[in-house]
Amino acid sequence: MEPIIGIDLGTTNSEVSFIFDGVVEVITDNDNGIVPSCVGLNETGGVIVGTEAFNQALAAPEKTIMSVKRLMGTEQQIKLGESLFRPQEISAFILKALKERAEKKLNRPVSKAVITVPAYFTDVQRQATREAGEIAGLQVIRIINEPTAASLAYESSNPETRRILVFDLGGGTFDVSIVKIEKGVVEVLSSTGDNHLGGDDFDWKIVERLAQQIRTEHDIDVKNDVTIMARLKRAAENAKIELSAAPFSVIEEDHIAKKDGRDIHLAFELSRIDFETMIETDLSRTMESVTKAMKDAAVLPSAIEKIILVGGSTRIPMVSNMLEKKIGHLPHSEIDPDLCVAVGAGMQAAREMGIEGSGVLIDVTPYTFGTSVVGEINGQPTPTMFFPLIRRNTKLPARKSDVFLTMYDSQEAVNVQVCQGEAPDALDNILLGNYLFNLTDAPAGSPIVLNFDLDLNGILKIKAVEKKTGKEISAVIENAMSRFSDQDLIVTQNRINGIWSGQENTDDAIDIESESKHSDDTLPLKYEELINRAMGKISDAAEDDRDEIINIIEDIRDAATEKRWEDADASCTELDDILFYLG
Ligand code: AMP
Repeated sequence: MEPIIGIDLGTTNSEVSFIFDGVVEVITDNDNGIVPSCVGLNETGGVIVGTEAFNQALAAPEKTIMSVKRLMGTEQQIKLGESLFRPQEISAFILKALKERAEKKLNRPVSKAVITVPAYFTDVQRQATREAGEIAGLQVIRIINEPTAASLAYESSNPETRRILVFDLGGGTFDVSIVKIEKGVVEVLSSTGDNHLGGDDFDWKIVERLAQQIRTEHDIDVKNDVTIMARLKRAAENAKIELSAAPFSVIEEDHIAKKDGRDIHLAFELSRIDFETMIETDLSRTMESVTKAMKDAAVLPSAIEKIILVGGSTRIPMVSNMLEKKIGHLPHSEIDPDLCVAVGAGMQAAREMGIEGSGVLIDVTPYTFGTSVVGEINGQPTPTMFFPLIRRNTKLPARKSDVFLTMYDSQEAVNVQVCQGEAPDALDNILLGNYLFNLTDAPAGSPIVLNFDLDLNGILKIKAVEKKTGKEISAVIENAMSRFSDQDLIVTQNRINGIWSGQENTDDAIDIESESKHSDDTLPLKYEELINRAMGKISDAAEDDRDEIINIIEDIRDAATEKRWEDADASCTELDDILFYLG
C-alpha cells in the first residue's frame, strides 16, 4: 500500500506523522519531531531547513525566513540571499524536509500527504498550501482544518456525538474553534481568534522588562541592538517555558553588552506571578474569543464535552486555569499540544489509506496530585483548600512546582501535605503523605517552593525548598497512582498513611524515602486531622480535659470502625468544641 503521511505545516513549527502498527506517531530524527518552520541559506549558499536554520537566525537574519505561513496566499516576494521566492516556494522547502524525514524513517519514497491548515484559511490560502505540496513533490490527498485534526487525535475512535472546544495558542497565532464530531465525521461549527497573538508576544514582554532592567542598572539602551535583543528574546523564551513548571526562573546572560569598555552582565529573577501579570490582558482577550466562538456556534459552556489544548503556549498553567473557570471542566492536554495536530493529520492519512480505528499511545495520570493550603472555597476562608500541582490527565512523566508563602513571622515549620483527588477541600481527598518542614527564622510571606515529580511508574517525588536558604526536604511516595480506583477515591475517602520522620543534619538537607501504606483501618482524613490536632493539645490540657479528649477519640475510632458515621460526626463536634475551649 502506498504510504500517506500527515503534515502539520505550522507558523512556528511543523511535524510529520505516519501510522505504524495501528498507532500514529510523529516521526523523529534524533530529536522530538518538532521541526522549526524556518528556512535559510548556509555559508555555501545551500538551503537549510528546521533547527539548523533556526539556530543561524540570530547570526544571519537576512539569510533566514520564519513564519512564512502568514504570507501564504499573498503575492509577496520573499528575499532569501540574492533570490526572490513566493511564499509557497519557501513552504515547499519545509515540506520537502518533512517528506525526506518520513522517507528516511519508512525507508521508501513518499509522494502523498494530508496537510493541515487553520480553519480560517481562505480558498486562496488553501490553494497556495496545495501548490506548496506539489512543488515539494507531494500529492496533497486532502487538506484538513487544524481543529479537525486535533479533534481526530482525541476522538477518532469515540462513536458518540461530541462538541469539542479546541483552544490553539501557538507561537504567533491564536485560534479557538467549536467542533462537532459525529460518527467519526468532524464539522467545525465556528472558529475565531487572532492571527497575531501567541508565545512570541509573551517573550517580547519579558524582553521589554529585561531591557528596562539593563537601562535602570547601567544607563544603556539596548533596544536598537539587534543581536542583543535577539539574545534577550531567546533567554526570555527559555524563562517563559521554565515558568510553566516552576514558580521562578533566573535569567542570566553574561557579557550581554559593553559600557566604557566594561562587560555588562544580566541577572534577573522572574516569578510566575509577575509573568502572569504581564500576559493577563492577552489571555483575557483569548477568553473573549472563546465566548465569541461559543456564541457563533450557538452552544452554551454546559454543552461543551471536552476542551482540547493545542499549541506550545497552552502549557502556560494560567491558560488551563482560565478555561476551567470559564467552561467548568479541565482542558485535555494528554496528547502533546505541539504534536496533536500532526497526530490528527496522521489519523486522517491512515483513513485515506483505508486503515480505521488508528490509536495514539499516551501515558497520563488518572488523578490530580496537590497539597493543602490556607485559602478560600466558594468565598469561605478555609485552612484546607486543595491546591493541585499535577492535574488529572497530565502526560507522564510530569514535573510541576509552585510557590507557597509562610503565614507568620518566625514561623517554625510547615506541614507539607500531599493529597490525591479532585475535591476542592483537601480533607475530602486522599492524604498520601504528611511532611513536617522546620523553617529558618524568617518574616511572614517567605517563599517555600514545592516540587512534584511523577514518573511513568507512578512514583511521586516531592521536594520542598526554603527559597531564601536553599534548605530542603524530600520524600518519595511509591505507587502514588496505581492502587486506588475512583470508587476508593469518592466512597471511602480513606487516608493512606505516609509517615515520614527524620532529623535535620548540619547540611540542612534531609532526604528520606517513605513508602505510603494503605491499611483498612485508616480513618477518613477529616477525623484523622481532628485527632492529630487533639493529640497536639493533649500535653497542655488539664487532667480532666485530657481524659475526656482520650475518651472522645476512642469514641470516634469505634464509631468509624463500625461505620456509625453519625455517631463519629457527633463525637467530632464534641471534640472540636473542647479544642476550641482550650484555645
Ligand atoms: P507552536 O506554534 O504550537 O509550536 O508553539 C510554539 C510556542 O509555544 C512558542 O512561543 C514557545 O515558546 C511556546 N512554548 C513551548 N513550550 C512552552 C511551555 N512549556 N510553556 C510556555 N510556552 C511554551
